[in-house]
Amino acid sequence: MPPEPRRVVLSVDLDEWYHCRWATGSPRSRWRDTAQFFREHYGADRPAGELAEPTRRILGLFDRLGVKGSFFVLGEVARFYPDLVREIAGRGHEVGCHGFHHVDVDLLGPDGFRRELSEAKGLLASIVGRPVVGYRAPNLLLRDWMIPILRGEGFRYDASVCTARPLLGKDFGHGHVAANPYRFSEAFSRPDPSGDMVEIPLPTFPVLRLPAATGILTRVAGRAWTLAALRRALRTGDAQYYFHPYELGPRPRIRLSLRERLFLRRLGPWMEEAVEAIALRLRSWGARFVTAGELAAAVSAS
Ligand SMILES: [Zn+2]
Repeated sequence: MPPEPRRVVLSVDLDEWYHCRWATGSPRSRWRDTAQFFREHYGADRPAGELAEPTRRILGLFDRLGVKGSFFVLGEVARFYPDLVREIAGRGHEVGCHGFHHVDVDLLGPDGFRRELSEAKGLLASIVGRPVVGYRAPNLLLRDWMIPILRGEGFRYDASVCTARPLLGKDFGHGHVAANPYRFSEAFSRPDPSGDMVEIPLPTFPVLRLPAATGILTRVAGRAWTLAALRRALRTGDAQYYFHPYELGPRPRIRLSLRERLFLRRLGPWMEEAVEAIALRLRSWGARFVTAGELAAAVSAS
């Protein structure tokens, strides 16, 4: 039981299962990019609209829980689903930026990253009619060189840091270690051009330092795994959990390898019930739900 009421962010990455690293956007992915996937899967240059239904399930779940969440929206998704993004904002949730294309930032480099960031942010701001100040990196790959670029583009916080050890060939690639939100200016001993930008990290499983505060691990390892990480983080501060709309939807109709089947297990009602149970448990521990933007502003002012 935490000693004082803690704040928890429930966040959602508005992207699809085919944006996962094994499918597109990394050097080892199954399709070169989403354009190739769309051509092969839909025989078209865009998806068929499957993201809307599970996203509305999340909006319904958040309404039932009385929670305002933070949705980190991919620019590509916003282009295909502008009305859905407007609906999310219209129902009182925060809209943050998840980059434009869901690719490893190392493939983009600093110039490509800045270009995609600026494009996605401009598109999202024009759809929701307000500034976009929060960022989450595709595949949670946050490099230190990205932080001044984020600051320069007007972002106030990042929510990408996962302090897990390298896993399945993926190195999160940063030296950040905190499980609770912090100001970047306090995390580095050298003078930091990112000023008062705030990080809202994703807690990991205690001691083992394995990913836990994400829907993927809730489905793969069970809700107790996720709750153990959140409970540990809440002992020392505020925390965050995130998941995806596709996790509440049906299993994709493609041939899947064993490993892909593992990543996509327990989609649909199982996951919806798990998220609701996790939120209710957090509330029973005294946690208060806030948006990532609200939490970042509070940390920045503290
Ligand atoms: Zn994503």
